[in-house]
Amino acid sequence: MQYATLRNNVQIPMVGFGVWQVDNDTEAPAAVVEALKTGYRHIDTAAIYKNEEGVAKGIAVSGVKRSDLFLTSKIWNDDIREGNTKQAFEDSLKRLETDYLDLCLLHWPVEGFVEAWKDLIELYEEGKIKAIGVSNFKEHHLEELKEAGLMVPLINQVELHPQLPQPDLLDYCQDEGIQIEAWSPLMQGKFLDIPAFTEIAEKHGKTAAQVVLRWHLESGHVALPKSVTPHRIRENFEVFDFSLDADDMAKIDAVATHERIGPDPDEIDF
Ligand code: NDP
Repeated sequence: MQYATLRNNVQIPMVGFGVWQVDNDTEAPAAVVEALKTGYRHIDTAAIYKNEEGVAKGIAVSGVKRSDLFLTSKIWNDDIREGNTKQAFEDSLKRLETDYLDLCLLHWPVEGFVEAWKDLIELYEEGKIKAIGVSNFKEHHLEELKEAGLMVPLINQVELHPQLPQPDLLDYCQDEGIQIEAWSPLMQGKFLDIPAFTEIAEKHGKTAAQVVLRWHLESGHVALPKSVTPHRIRENFEVFDFSLDADDMAKIDAVATHERIGPDPDEIDF
């Protein structure tokens, strides 16, 4: 496993297990058990995924100690708008059967995010969260926090993959000491047959998904691949035994179309 070190010296495993669209009852417990058995120690959930209980079940069955896990959840938009961040955080803890989070994020930059960020800072200062951050924030949202004189987030989790490499946002975050996490790191599995990926995969005796994940790691992104398929859960973790050369990286960089799969944070209404 590779780790990144956040500005506050917290270590974060660079491959995390994403669980968006993983059903709480029928999928989450088994998928989490499989992931933890494979070696993942970082799980990325959110209140809105409605599977925090299922994740907790999987963790309990796995026998992995809480202190060996990096657990992330997120404050949903309604709670941000309604000024309900602290209660939403406590509710997530309860569903996750834990008394702290390793990382808590504001899910989207909806109205009220500056006040919500103040609440997260207080929880962080009380020691209830090891690291705090935001998700889907653009440069101008991050600037708003700065202008309010508030702590710079430790993390920004955004849509990021070879088709949408977001160079300006990444430069901004690097300058500010904000670690980037990539959501939909595998482009939701939709574009893995692009020749650049399959050719590089063949050269290294790996799969296209593994090549894309390796590109993330070598670019310094924490990546959060999601799968409920046991062989893919394992495949997505077998990425620490090879590396890409400059030629491979350039070929993957050339795949960029700058098109999003998900919504633009400036246009959301949910
Ligand atoms: P991913 O890029 O991780 O792709 C997941 C899809 O790809 C699934 O359909 C999965 O299928 C398939 N897949 C997984 N592994 C492979 C593989 N090795 N080969 C081929 N196909 C594969 O997309 P997500 O959108 O799920 O994003 C990942 C995580 O990022 C989420 O689970 C969530 O934790 C986070 N996220 C955060 C957001 C935010 O707003 N902060 C928004 C979106 C995601 P199957 O499961 O059937 O195996």
